[in-house]
Amino acid sequence: MNAVTKKETQTQADLRINAKWIVPIESSSKQADQTLSNHVLIDHCILIKDGLILAIEKQTDCQISAIETLDLGQQVLMPGWVNAHGHAAMSLFRGLADDLPLMTWLQEHIWPAESQHVDKSFVKEGTELAIAEMIQSGTTTFADMYFYPQQSAEAALKAGMRAVCFTPVLDFPTNYAQNADEYIRKAVECNDRFNSHPLNQHPINKHRLIQIGFGPHAPYTVSDEPLKEITILADQLDMPVQIHLHETAFEVSESLEKFNKRPIQRLADLGFLTERISCVHMTQIDDSDIALLKKIGASIVHCPESNLKLASGFCPISKLSEAGIPLAIGTDGAASNNDLDMFSETKTAALLAKGVSQDVSSLPAIEALTMATLGGARALGLDEVTGSLKPGKAADIQAINFNTLSSQPVFDPISHLVYCAKSTQVSYVWVNGQCLLNEGKLTTLNEEKLISQAKVWASKIQAPIK
Ligand SMILES: [Zn+2]
Repeated sequence: MNAVTKKETQTQADLRINAKWIVPIESSSKQADQTLSNHVLIDHCILIKDGLILAIEKQTDCQISAIETLDLGQQVLMPGWVNAHGHAAMSLFRGLADDLPLMTWLQEHIWPAESQHVDKSFVKEGTELAIAEMIQSGTTTFADMYFYPQQSAEAALKAGMRAVCFTPVLDFPTNYAQNADEYIRKAVECNDRFNSHPLNQHPINKHRLIQIGFGPHAPYTVSDEPLKEITILADQLDMPVQIHLHETAFEVSESLEKFNKRPIQRLADLGFLTERISCVHMTQIDDSDIALLKKIGASIVHCPESNLKLASGFCPISKLSEAGIPLAIGTDGAASNNDLDMFSETKTAALLAKGVSQDVSSLPAIEALTMATLGGARALGLDEVTGSLKPGKAADIQAINFNTLSSQPVFDPISHLVYCAKSTQVSYVWVNGQCLLNEGKLTTLNEEKLISQAKVWASKIQAPIK
């Protein structure tokens, strides 16, 4: 009797979630015969235990008991979005300067505003604002690249959000550090701090909420020596690396003039380009760049709305996908997007791929969804942890309500998720099994407080009068 009770206790889930549709992104062979169009499970449930996905089963066949059951009816469960590139705290610069070329926007607006306002409290409160927006729109993991990364990592930990914080490296001084050596030293310190942070522990190391990486800004702002040092340290410390690369035609022509090489070739020759690198933007690439990327196995993070808004060019997603290059999607910062909404970003990516390639079959809906979830996890080195709904992975899940006018009728949930659903339809979000959004309400952040904080910052920053 005791043995039976013990067995029942061991297999009892903490939470069972029933939903009409589940889009796991990766499906196990056991589920293959229960799917619609091979990607959607009908009338299934997800069981969560200790923050991990315990099982995904047909509701009528499920024998596993659960402490709590949530019946979602006409909703879809899918992995939370992985926003693979952004500058979270820049949410406080949302709408500060628009309709300008990248270098004018950076040099005359963003960098001066940063030097005047960016400090620890700016980063803390700006990141909290960004995290709240991301949770409300179904994101469960975000990549960040910004000053004072300890503040953003602390904000993510406190909110229960998964984050990869790429610590910035530049040649020139900012409020945060004076030279490349200091940026790199701070990156290593930050990594040490969050590896031993009491709130950032998990029985499986990679499942920790926070990972720290190196974020050298771009080839035109970081010189050879620091790039070489980052390569060695990232390898030694097993840290991911992210860099803005081939964002504009100017970046490429300047590199050809200065180094007689395209930026990506320069990075490859330095030994900097490895599998652990995610290259952000890549709007200006030719066949030789694609061949090089393929050889190295580096990922690309596509930020279509930022590229469109800054008129940077188009990342050739179709060609890259054909070449088998790992692809992810990011919103970039709210100063150049101007939101952190992965629903609209994924839709834009899908539509833009068709427009650029003039091929309607380019980036079909399921591929766009995969890029925005599992692809992002791969780019950040977290594909064993998140990005798909699979037993053993973290319970990083979003629920989207399809019982709305704009979602009727539902023929294919995959189509709706990419071409029709809006972020306001997100009803629940879990990260590591913790509920961060409950019937549309934030559970770990105070929405009213965040709005008040942002208003105080707006009055300090004061957008220029046009
Ligand atoms: Zn960026």
